[in-house]
Amino acid sequence: MAGFDLHTHTVFSDGTTTPEDNVRDALAVGLEGLGITDHDTAAPYERALAAADGTPLELVLGVEFSAERGGRSVHVLGYWIDPGYAPLAEELERLRDERTHRARRIVGRFHDLGIEVAYERVVALADGAPIGRPHIAAAVVETGAAADLREVFDRYLADGGPAYVEKHAVHPVRAVELLVASCGVAVLAHPGLDGPRDGTGGIEHELIEAMAAIGLAGIEADHPDHTDEQRRRYRDLAAALRLEVTGGSDYHGAGKDNRLGSATTPREIVERLRAWQHA
Ligand code: AMP
Ligand code: ZN
Ligand code: FE
Ligand code: FE
Repeated sequence: MAGFDLHTHTVFSDGTTTPEDNVRDALAVGLEGLGITDHDTAAPYERALAAADGTPLELVLGVEFSAERGGRSVHVLGYWIDPGYAPLAEELERLRDERTHRARRIVGRFHDLGIEVAYERVVALADGAPIGRPHIAAAVVETGAAADLREVFDRYLADGGPAYVEKHAVHPVRAVELLVASCGVAVLAHPGLDGPRDGTGGIEHELIEAMAAIGLAGIEADHPDHTDEQRRRYRDLAAALRLEVTGGSDYHGAGKDNRLGSATTPREIVERLRAWQHA
């Protein structure tokens, strides 16, 4: 399997695998390169680098930055950022704190719905990582109120669901601005996953145009949860806006069905992306 899988998570956010697992499995499936893109944190970098050292695997270190508009999530991938750049580091830290407060509020929503999930259990499952909805969903499954994570999301936790609470995150245009200012390259993650997941949803093109105007470099058109029609639509939009088209699996280990390497980006596009760094 040639190419780079530019979107994977680890236990440093809401994935269930370690950085060492991702590196080993990426080599096993024959990937040339691997993106490490945990939600709102650069914490896995050191371990990923150590694991890839001496192997042919090329790492692309990044974050999946949580932004929101109109109360719904917009995720922006930021590659090759300087995690020490203060305005970005401060926003990421604020986001991680916000995730803790929000987890408490979401657990409260579940209690209102008659589902007695324990906040302490959610914290234990996150094990020091920024708390994400999949941690809460896993704790809900343990109570027996749902059979699996998908059911928890479909019934309660998807954006706008009865247990959903927004994060007070920055606007997506500001997210791009912060990532670019930290010497990073910004790519809009899975734009089709906004709203209904049957192919009729998707982030409005006006917002993507505004993000492009401030320095967005690419659109993740190839994502396992996109329909073929969505992949085509975002490819066309990227071409019209002169943006790169990327692919990534959004691998979360056991936390999601997405298989490592199930969407990839060719090397030449990774090289073009890299050239956006100081553009
Ligand atoms: P959070 O960052 O806490 O808002 O959680 C975002 C994560 O929750 C995503 O990375 C996905 O892993 C998962 N997620 C969000 N919406 C859904 C959904 N509708 N179905 C399944 N998983 C979802
Ligand atoms: Zn996630
Ligand atoms: Fe995402
Ligand atoms: Fe992701």
